[in-house]
Amino acid sequence: MKADTVGITPRTTFVLEEQDDLFAPRPPAPLLHAITCAVCGTRWRIYVVAPGDLCDTCRADLPAMRAHVEDVVDRARSRLHVLIEQFDDAVARESAEDQARWQAVVRARVAAHNNVQAASILRSRLAATLALHDGLSRILQAHGELEKGCGEVEQQELWGVVALREIEVAS
Ligand SMILES: [Zn+2]
Repeated sequence: MKADTVGITPRTTFVLEEQDDLFAPRPPAPLLHAITCAVCGTRWRIYVVAPGDLCDTCRADLPAMRAHVEDVVDRARSRLHVLIEQFDDAVARESAEDQARWQAVVRARVAAHNNVQAASILRSRLAATLALHDGLSRILQAHGELEKGCGEVEQQELWGVVALREIEVAS
């Protein structure tokens, strides 16, 4: 008789009621998805409904983050102007003959634009010229740095476009 009463004390009944609640409808778990923050590149998880692919840090102060992105892009563009000036100076420092050789390189590049074989031959010849350390090689060196800088600025501009779009969406 004593064994039959085990499990039906007021306390046990209360516990059983709690267990019943386990089967009651519950609100769905918040849906998270993985993103890469458009500003800082951090891998993050945000609610599916959260607007803008931004981590919590970058989301915390959107006007400040917008100003930061615009500043980085402006500085990249300014740097590009400096690189162009440096390249123009590098060309101007060389002799008229080397400047004419550079113009011939520019024409050859345009001519080889859609010709894989011609482009390959030109690359080999320019690589050999670079090793000569003469006036044209210094122009080629400067032009290589300009192209590298242009590529970096282009990347930063693309980053800026995406980052500003996501900040706009989140605002
Ligand atoms: Zn971020």
